[in-house]
Amino acid sequence: MHIGIPRETRDGETRVAATPETVKKYVGGKHTVVVERGAGNAARYLDEAYEAAGATLGSAQEALGAELVMKVRAPSAAELPQMKAGAVVIGMLDPFDAEGLAQMAGAGLTGFALEAAPRITRAQSLDVLSSQANLAGYKAVLLAAHHYGRLIPMMMTAAGTLKAARAVVLGTGVAGLQAIATAKRLGAVVEASDVRPAAREQVESLGAKFIDVPFETDEEREIAQGVGGYARPMPPAWMARQAALVSERCKQADIVITTALIPGRPAPTLVSAETVAAMKPGSVLVDLAVERGGNCPLSEKGKVVEKHGVTLIGLTNLPGLVATDASALYARNILDFLKLIINADGALAIQRDDEIVAACLVCEGGNVTRRS
Ligand code: NAD
Repeated sequence: MHIGIPRETRDGETRVAATPETVKKYVGGKHTVVVERGAGNAARYLDEAYEAAGATLGSAQEALGAELVMKVRAPSAAELPQMKAGAVVIGMLDPFDAEGLAQMAGAGLTGFALEAAPRITRAQSLDVLSSQANLAGYKAVLLAAHHYGRLIPMMMTAAGTLKAARAVVLGTGVAGLQAIATAKRLGAVVEASDVRPAAREQVESLGAKFIDVPFETDEEREIAQGVGGYARPMPPAWMARQAALVSERCKQADIVITTALIPGRPAPTLVSAETVAAMKPGSVLVDLAVERGGNCPLSEKGKVVEKHGVTLIGLTNLPGLVATDASALYARNILDFLKLIINADGALAIQRDDEIVAACLVCEGGNVTRRS
């Protein structure tokens, strides 16, 4: 097939959907690849490296006009008209954005949104949510450390002893677990909370303390199990008990990392404005859920702000801050997904009965096909 790798045009998007490593594999697999000039610059993959891997360099229109287009973010309104009806587009296409899906369907594209892949063992190597959330969790802690005007580890010096920083991680999916591991590596004392009972063991295995919010009814216990490994909105009574506990822990904390999400819903509020007001001056909160409304009402999307003496970090594309590695992992996710829609001769052969393919297929033949 003829594969196109355009430069990402969304503000602040530094990642690229293919690296010289994956391009080499595509070219070896009977495909031709056109990479838009400069597509990998922001991720430090230079044009010459793509050429050496066997790609040709071209314009945005040439890359977008390919039979199969690999993207990081969904095509914009300016990009869609440059794409061919019947072309395949693979990327993080926002499967919950009904309007965006309708536009891609209207452009006649066959779209695969990799965020919609099921969380099953076989899908792990193409799981873009995991590959990117893992880096976001890591970077969140480094950003917090940077903005925190003190040290993280306990340090015994001739001039006296400095206490270790206390970190609280709320939401312990992929990002939260990596945040715990990173904070531990830096020497913080870490506590963490999640609604899913299965999280406790994972948190404790990383050496952090689990903040236990007991279930008081069978309904609470049942909802907390989630669906397919994902959380569901908890009843207000449980949320209130969690808020009280979280508030106590946050008042003691130096660093708070929030990552709690519920698929297809606004992020739950976990750290209230009152809690922020009661936090220690100089403490730092990183809200990884800010793009979905935030776990803290005071964090601001795309900004680092200070309120009540607390630095609130609401930057939205943390994987984009480590774009070289984020792109390398993302590009391998796409390479792996391609095996499900391309046959051994390098021709399009979409395995529609495959549950991963079926879940990711969001539009085809002019229609939105996403099952919600
Ligand atoms: P996510 O990004 O959807 O959410 C982050 C975390 O927030 C989750 O752990 C969720 O339980 C938690 N959360 C939601 N509401 C909360 C609340 N009120 N208080 C505290 N925490 C709250 O999660 P994710 O990283 O995408 O992981 C979701 C699930 O998928 C996990 O069970 C994870 O282990 C699983 N997973 C499976 C695979 C696989 O098998 N292929 C891959 C990755 C993740």
